[in-house]
Amino acid sequence: MKYIDEFRDGDLARKLAADIRREARPEREYGLMEFCGGHTHAIFRYGIQGLLPDCVHMIHGPGCPVCVLPIGRVDNAIELARMPGVTLCCYGDMLRVPGSGRVSLLKAKADGADIRMVYSSADALKIAQENPERQVVFFAIGFETTTPPTAVVILQAETLGLNNFTVFSNHVLTPAAIGAIMQSGEARVDGVVGPAHVSTVIGSRPYEPFSAEYHMPVVIAGFEPLDMMQAILMLIRQINEGRAEVENEFTRAVTRDGNLKAQRMVDEVFELRDTFEWRGLGWVPDSALQIREKYAAFDAEKRFELTHASVADHQSCECSAIIRGVKNPLDCKLFGSVCTPDNPIGSCMVSSEGACAAYYTYGRYREAQKQDQT
Ligand code: SF4
Repeated sequence: MKYIDEFRDGDLARKLAADIRREARPEREYGLMEFCGGHTHAIFRYGIQGLLPDCVHMIHGPGCPVCVLPIGRVDNAIELARMPGVTLCCYGDMLRVPGSGRVSLLKAKADGADIRMVYSSADALKIAQENPERQVVFFAIGFETTTPPTAVVILQAETLGLNNFTVFSNHVLTPAAIGAIMQSGEARVDGVVGPAHVSTVIGSRPYEPFSAEYHMPVVIAGFEPLDMMQAILMLIRQINEGRAEVENEFTRAVTRDGNLKAQRMVDEVFELRDTFEWRGLGWVPDSALQIREKYAAFDAEKRFELTHASVADHQSCECSAIIRGVKNPLDCKLFGSVCTPDNPIGSCMVSSEGACAAYYTYGRYREAQKQDQT
């Protein structure tokens, strides 16, 4: 299969693994953060960690949009869904994320709220067109990949003159989050595997300022196993040579400037928020988008006068530390016992891209054995 099989070739994987082992210096440690949940998933699904020498450590970053949404924003969505006459549309993963008191959107739905699972922003717009007597709110989440489709439906709603459609915007920005992690200095990161899908939209240019500021090598990589391994090799080479550049392994989809048409559309509808709360990272300046005043009629926060309250995570849940790259799922005493994909306590176990879900699905026995041996 074109562009799939080529990036899952076993012989090439073994050769890359040998190159990594030869070039990684055993006397030093390499902490490599994959920002994106898709990469975390690939690492476990294809057993990449097992092919790396002991001195190379993958650190799982905050790149799962479901995981990084704080409890206060989940509570806002539940509040919206419970308002009379409101239909809330959201992606499936968000349904099970616990809010305050472990109440989720799924629980609110069971209690009678009109909550619909959608696969795209266009589905939400269609529901608004078909139900003019309801106020339909799209619970928009995601990084730069999902923002353009949200901008499109807001522009379409304006063209259609829809007055029963609004968006609860929770779109967040990747470079700001990586910058916040670097600034905190909590996680020992020597290089970053840059996101794939996000970078198809924003390009590689936005990573250049923090790569320079923190002397941090960045390699943008695709989601196939050979993409990941090639990116790891490229990072090790940069680190060994003392370089800190933004390199692009994913040239088949990412350019330096990204998708300018999508960027223009996003810029037409959205503007930067001064600050936004992230699970794990706290309040991060210039890290999220809000709907511009020009399109305020489609802004659910304004129409329904939502206010945001910061709410602490479950006291035993380590999601915040995992998102900051300072702990891994096996450090959480609830992992795999109290907290499972069927009964998630924190967001990292809910989302298929979350680190806890990836460990649980692919890596829990292997990683536990490794920990026992050390
Ligand atoms: S295992 Fe569950 S409780 Fe523990 S950090 Fe992960 S999501 Fe949170």
